[in-house]
Amino acid sequence: MDNRAVRRDLHRIPEAGFQEYKTQQYLLQFIEQLSEEHLEVKTWKTGILVLVKGSNPSKTVGYRTDIDGLPIKEETDYLFQSEHEGYMHACGHDFHMTIALSLLEHYSGNQVKDNLLFIFQPAEEGPGGALPMLASEEFNAWKPDQMVALHVAPEYPVGTVATKPGLLFANTSELFIDLIGKGGHAAYPHLTKDMVVAGSHLVTQLQSIVSRNIDPLDSAVVTIGKIEGGTKQNIIAETSRLEGTIRSLSAESMTLVKERIEAIIKGIEASFECEASIDYGSNYYQVFNEATLVERFMEITRKLNDISVIECREAMTGEDFGYFLRDIPGFMFWLGVNSESGLHSSTLKPDEAAIDIAYDVLTNYIDTITE
Ligand SMILES: [Zn+2]
Ligand SMILES: [Zn+2]
Repeated sequence: MDNRAVRRDLHRIPEAGFQEYKTQQYLLQFIEQLSEEHLEVKTWKTGILVLVKGSNPSKTVGYRTDIDGLPIKEETDYLFQSEHEGYMHACGHDFHMTIALSLLEHYSGNQVKDNLLFIFQPAEEGPGGALPMLASEEFNAWKPDQMVALHVAPEYPVGTVATKPGLLFANTSELFIDLIGKGGHAAYPHLTKDMVVAGSHLVTQLQSIVSRNIDPLDSAVVTIGKIEGGTKQNIIAETSRLEGTIRSLSAESMTLVKERIEAIIKGIEASFECEASIDYGSNYYQVFNEATLVERFMEITRKLNDISVIECREAMTGEDFGYFLRDIPGFMFWLGVNSESGLHSSTLKPDEAAIDIAYDVLTNYIDTITE
């Protein structure tokens, strides 16, 4: 297969989570032209599962790729820009899918001893496809014994693979808070409940969670990135809305942060005589690499010429692959793609040479552990 051509085809058709209809169709068409001898294919919502049966299987090894794009207007100078206005593969999922297809093509013609399961998972960016997929009959019928996934890393050069045992990505949650009070004339504050004042106090009080409630040796982030309220300069605001994100290195701290947010909001409701509602939006569980498997992967990969294996630090980014790893041992790694612009940027341009690197790294790994 022509890796670059496939990646460019996929780059043109980014779609929202659980709306990946064209993407699914493209992937299915590709899979249909492979030798069917050892393959079994199932769809699940807009996702796909492909089992490559082993010659004498004692385990199933899963490779997961996400398939969704992001609501970002592309601003690259590519000739193969997104054809879906306002959507872009700005998180490299076009790369992840292409790598999956190149592995699938290889193993459909080169059967190994164990079963391989290729998982094309929708909605990684939201609302989250991993959890419902894990609960599905389709997945459980072929549930792998171990799993691997990768994510493109703009900050590393091509030829670099970075990972670590234990925690790789944080626990993350979105945060949306709405406050409702009683608006009115700016000159009659005593007849109103001002939601701009209430919202401002809330933003300030939220700052104490990380500084006063989280163990300093653990780590967490509570960021309010957007605040909205009111209609006009001389009207007291009836509503205000805070939008933010929560990150934490441990699952326990995520629970603690949410408990503290809820307690603080109760206080705001009492102090400012208003009503509040909280929505946590998309939530991601930590990506926790199983030490034995990831150390073996690093050792096997170090033997390859021209590949540099780095033990990196954990990151406060989120990934819903974490839900798979809560259930099934496995690991994730960063694949260097050398782009000046970062993930979720409208000008992300990962280097396509990294696709062949990932193919080499993963075929080498799979061949070694399925002997
Ligand atoms: Zn992303
Ligand atoms: Zn991503």
